[in-house]
Amino acid sequence: DVTKTKGNSFEDFYLSRELLMGIFEAGFEKPSPIQEESIPVALAGRDILARAKNGTGKTASFIIPTLDKIKPKVDKIQALILLPTRELALQTSQVVKTLGKHLNINCVVSTGGTSLRDDIVRLDDSVHILVGTPGRVLDLAARDIADLSSCSIFVMDEADKMLSQEFKNIAQQILAFLPKKHQSLLFSATFPLTIQEFIAKNLKNPYEINLMDELTLRGITNYYAYLEEQQKLHCLNTLFSKLQINQSIIFCNSAKRVELLAKKITELGYSCFYSHARMPQDERNKVFHEFRQGKVRNLVCSDLLTRGIDIQAVNVVINFDFPKTAETYLHRIGRSGRFGHLGLAIDFITWNDRANLFRVEKELGIEIPKIPNNIDESLY
Ligand code: ADP
Ligand code: MG
Repeated sequence: DVTKTKGNSFEDFYLSRELLMGIFEAGFEKPSPIQEESIPVALAGRDILARAKNGTGKTASFIIPTLDKIKPKVDKIQALILLPTRELALQTSQVVKTLGKHLNINCVVSTGGTSLRDDIVRLDDSVHILVGTPGRVLDLAARDIADLSSCSIFVMDEADKMLSQEFKNIAQQILAFLPKKHQSLLFSATFPLTIQEFIAKNLKNPYEINLMDELTLRGITNYYAYLEEQQKLHCLNTLFSKLQINQSIIFCNSAKRVELLAKKITELGYSCFYSHARMPQDERNKVFHEFRQGKVRNLVCSDLLTRGIDIQAVNVVINFDFPKTAETYLHRIGRSGRFGHLGLAIDFITWNDRANLFRVEKELGIEIPKIPNNIDESLY
């Protein structure tokens, strides 16, 4: 197949030997489609606006060119990577450290919920890449703790979220601290029209990549179970006993319901953690970290964890409460089926959720079938 031999290797990007070593040691053999499209364009210095499905390797798409452009000898923040949540910031800095293992590049993570004084100490050293959440980064820039005047690379992952009403002004204010001439790399699985204004104002002739259509929800089998609210726990119990769960994430629509359900699952005799935005940050970190290490099989959570979190061992996602929007649905379901792995998603649908289910099906152009009595294990 001629098309497959074309540009299908990390070596084709003319990266340094040290960077290639980091990439190969991370277990990446060849670039994914989004990496193949975006890395050369980013290396050439162009602004990028890229959409690709969850789990397709967007993180490395911006980290590889970023690492390539950093000058280790220059003792300045040269790249800023913004993410919407603390967990994602930590995860992204891990990827920076893994891929940049053989480079002399320092990366610091700075997020809300941790002591500002610790950040001051960390930022006192030579820092090349700053990874953080918007509020804290703006705080650091405004107080002159982080000097962004030489920061020539600006990355926003989960960019649609970063430019939502909640964050838009903060992002704009942060940009004011960067030099006028900088490169912007925006990545997301969804790009609503609402962010067009920001793009028009801040990006220069961005190269647009859209790998959404061909990739939507590939590898993931969806089913719905129609039931009443009082039957949900029983149904979950049945699924636990019938399914071959490697790890599962179970989504509820509120912090209170997360805690309640986690308690009930534990009472049923299954191991389970829970996480939601109203928990203290160190506790959230601990839960996330230990779930990731596989210390516990099931995680109950709110939409706090819907975006970008990459845990390959998760093969089952259960919407204990059905989400309100197609976008949230896509992000939640994307927690399984990472990078070509298969996954199973089961939606609990009550009478009140029917309209939402139809809407999600329509917006995503999919048809979710009713759950069969037996689910083929080879599907997940
Ligand atoms: P996205 O941000 O698009 O949702 P991630 O960047 O989190 O996806 O990547 C998903 C998973 O795929 C990660 O575990 C990552 O290590 C892995 N991955 C990324 N690129 C490659 C590659 N070229 N080869 C093999 N695995 C990869
Ligand atoms: Mg991501």
